[in-house]
Amino acid sequence: MLPQTDYVKASSVAHALDMLHQYGTGAAILAGGTDLIVDMRERRREPTMLVDISSVEELAEIDVGTGNIRIGAGVTVAGLAGSAIVQHQLPLVTEVTRHFADYLTRNRATIGGNLANASPGADLVPPLLALNASVVLATAQGERTVDLNDFLVGPRRTLLLWNELVRAIHIPTPVPRGQAYEKLGLRTGGAIAVVSCAVSMDQAGGECRRVRIGLGAVAPRAFRSSEAEQIMEGHMFSSDIAARAAEAAANSSQPISDVRGSAEYRHAMVRALVERALHAAYERSSEPQE
Ligand SMILES: Cc1cc2nc3c(=O)[nH]c(=O)nc-3n(C[C@H](O)[C@H](O)[C@H](O)COP(=O)(O)OP(=O)(O)OC[C@H]3O[C@@H](n4cnc5c(N)ncnc54)[C@H](O)[C@@H]3O)c2cc1C
Repeated sequence: MLPQTDYVKASSVAHALDMLHQYGTGAAILAGGTDLIVDMRERRREPTMLVDISSVEELAEIDVGTGNIRIGAGVTVAGLAGSAIVQHQLPLVTEVTRHFADYLTRNRATIGGNLANASPGADLVPPLLALNASVVLATAQGERTVDLNDFLVGPRRTLLLWNELVRAIHIPTPVPRGQAYEKLGLRTGGAIAVVSCAVSMDQAGGECRRVRIGLGAVAPRAFRSSEAEQIMEGHMFSSDIAARAAEAAANSSQPISDVRGSAEYRHAMVRALVERALHAAYERSSEPQE
């Protein structure tokens, strides 16, 4: 049974922000509800007012702007999968959508909900970290933009204030050409990540540039392994250097043991997946542009 709560369907971002302001800390944004409703059923959350943003059209747009690609917080995983902009420029994100839950959930689950929920294993976070994304947060008073890496504070904790909503995600352009994603789950489809990793990079004559490595499910929050990135950055790509970077990525993770795998197993899998993703991203960075 769901706890008793009031409900309002927001018609615009301004309306949603007004509702948040009016109802204060008891209000919660409802996007796809695929995390929030589960939390309410389990009585982990008991909001007194649900502000439903699922019909707010201005949150459901994907645009190419000056210097960035802007993805509205209300874009669903299915919306990302079907977007020509995403397919063409962010193949890393398209790849993630293929591993995300099931078709029903993909039709409801939003990118904003995935970030705001801040699960250490949230699938969209490592790719967005690897793409150097920032998050646009809005209140009735105005907007601020924060680096995704700073937005995530800890497990299920973000910089979001009670009267703020995630309005959009910005990905700076040009995006690195070499992009790769690896997710290990206990099943092929619809599984929560045991380890996930995303890599983006450019190269010039074999020298690695703009290398970014995002890791999920192996620390209290998804994070970028700057130690591993520094090993690659500015160096000629080789199997040896990819193996050293993968080792550094494994050392920078802090995995726990749970029902999905032991800390030792996760540690070994970070090394294997990062090494594989580095090779794939490097190969793609040298493919001719369409
Ligand atoms: C069957 C099932 C399978 C799943 N599989 C996966 C999976 O494979 N990978 C994965 O990463 N996740 C998975 N999830 C978790 C969930 O689907 C995702 O985290 C999803 O992206 C959450 O988005 P939502 O729109 O449903 O968020 P909601 O449930 O509506 O909201 C989640 C939280 O974010 C807040 N919120 C939502 N939007 C905003 C906003 N714009 N601004 C501020 N706060 C906001 C809400 O208040 C709430 O606290 C699964 C869930 C289910 C039920």
